[in-house]
This record gives sequence, C-alpha cells and structure tokens, in this order.
Amino acid sequence: MLRTTIAGSLPKPSWLATPRTLWAPWSLAGAALAEGKRDAVLAALKEQEAAGIDVVTDGEQSRQHFVHGFLEGIEGVDFARRVTIGIRADRYKAEVPTVTGPLRRKGSIHGEEVGFARAHTTKPFKFTIPGPMTIVDTLADEHYRDRRRLALEFARVINEEALELEALGLDVLQLDEPAFNVYMDDVAAWGIEALHRATEGLRCRTAVHICYGYGIKANVEWKATLGGEWRQYERTFPLLAASRIDQVSLECANSRVPLELLSLLLGKDVLVGAVDVATDAVETPEQVAAVIRRALAFVPAERLYPCTNCGMVPLAREVARGKLRALAAGAAIVRRELTR
Ligand code: ZN
Repeated sequence: MLRTTIAGSLPKPSWLATPRTLWAPWSLAGAALAEGKRDAVLAALKEQEAAGIDVVTDGEQSRQHFVHGFLEGIEGVDFARRVTIGIRADRYKAEVPTVTGPLRRKGSIHGEEVGFARAHTTKPFKFTIPGPMTIVDTLADEHYRDRRRLALEFARVINEEALELEALGLDVLQLDEPAFNVYMDDVAAWGIEALHRATEGLRCRTAVHICYGYGIKANVEWKATLGGEWRQYERTFPLLAASRIDQVSLECANSRVPLELLSLLLGKDVLVGAVDVATDAVETPEQVAAVIRRALAFVPAERLYPCTNCGMVPLAREVARGKLRALAAGAAIVRRELTR
C-alpha cells in the first residue's frame, strides 16, 4: 500500500535541452539527439529507483512538450502551420500546430521509447499521453471545426497507439487532462466519452491526470483567482467515479482543493499529489506524510498512491531529485504508521 509514483515528467539534463524552460529547444540534433534522449531516460529511471519510487515513468525525456511530442507523430497535424492562440480558456498563449486534414498515425509514435524504458527497469512502468480534450485545446483546427468530433478522432488515434504500447509491457497508461479543470461542461458532454474511446480494450491500468498546471507564472496567477476553495473537481470526480478509468491523479500539496472531494472518487485508485511542483522548496518527508495522512481520511490506503502534484519538467534537476526522495520517504513514514 501507499505505492509511490510521479505525475510523469522530470527535468531534462542540460546537455539534452535548455533547463528550466517549457518547450525547451533541444541541445543536440540527429543521431546525437536520439542517443541523448535514451541516455536521459536511463538517468530518469535510475533517479526514480534510487529515490524509492515504486511506479516509474521515462520522465518524458524524449518529448519537447507533453502535448506536442505525441502530435508530431500524427498525419493531419501540420507543424509548418504554427499559430499563436490562447489556450486553457485563454490563460496563456502558446504557439500551436494546425489540424489541416484527417488524422492518422504515421506509424508507432512512442513504441521505441516504451520498449527501451521497459527493457531498462523491472519496476511497474507508467507512460503518459495527452488526453483528447487537452490535445484539442492545444492546437488550431481548420479541418474538423468541432471540438467533440476532433477529440473523438484523437481518441481513436490514441487508442491505436495505446494498444501497441500495452503489448510492449506497459503497466499503466495515463492520459493527461489538465483541460478537465477548465471546461467542466465539456467533460460531461464529451470528455469522458473521449477517454473511454481512447482506452477501449486496454487491459493495463488506466489513469487520468487532472491538475491546475505546471508552476509557471500564468498558472500561479490563475490559481490566485480561483478563490479560497478550488471546487472544480467536484463536478468532474463523480463523472470519473462512474467511468471505466482506474486511477485519478490530482494535486493536493499546497493547493486549495478541499480534500473531502476525494471521497467522490470512491472505487478508484487516487494518485494524491503530495509534492508541490510550483516551488523550488524541497518538502521534508514529514510534510509529504502530512498530506498523505489528510488524504487517508477520504481514500483507503490500498487505493492511495502518493504522487507529485504535476510534472516536474520546469524544475531544476537537483530540486526534482530532492522532491522524489521526500515523496518516497514521506510515504514510508505513513506506511510504517499503518503497519505498526
Ligand atoms: Zn499536471
């Protein structure tokens, strides 16, 4: 019980990409880049194992951004037609590619990465793919011109990819849906439907990560406008509880999410964010343990997975390393208390 995991990403080594930057440009090219990505995955796996993380990821070392890494493998998404749009209900601007035709995978998108990571760890392995709603919110569309239809088309493509990744030995497939906290009406109208289509036929565990975003300035400012209690999850959790998704990942450390909302996820595994990614301050194990203890009032221990609030890609490596260790050590403290 209280097995630890991370939301997904870790900082990249400075020899691979510019540190502390979202959409960081690669420092290498061609064959050297491919080799550098693989080396970085080895380091990411090793650091998680050394810290004592139980369910590991590849740290998302091979993608420039959590959404665009997937989109680059899809025909119909034109990266030559980049436009700057406001995303997440215009919270911040991003340069995004344009959908110009029917969506089709050019081939396996992440198969090589998953095969490589799987071969280099014996721990349960989780891989993350952006969820359909978040993808739709992170590009321009001149072809389908209908968000639900576009989301269901992406869900079909994700599902093809996911079934192949599962066959390579994936233990958990996680879909990242930060957009679920922004478009709550759409979650009810088609967001869950799209998740179901994306995970159809999978036998591995399935997870969805919802959050209030990385610790970048635009997100920190947005969070300040959300009031004393963040109740967005109140609308989405009952829908997720009734869904076929196995696990829900959310942020609980330093957030204003009322933890009693976790009880709305009855029957699901809950990945409780017990490490803040919006601060360079490394939590003490005791601080992590305190978040886990509070969450235990609403989630049974066998269903609670201590986790990071969100991806750690914008952090300094040393900070992320410290947070990994604090996460594992904090979980160990509470585990000892429960088995005493
Ligand atoms: Zn997140």
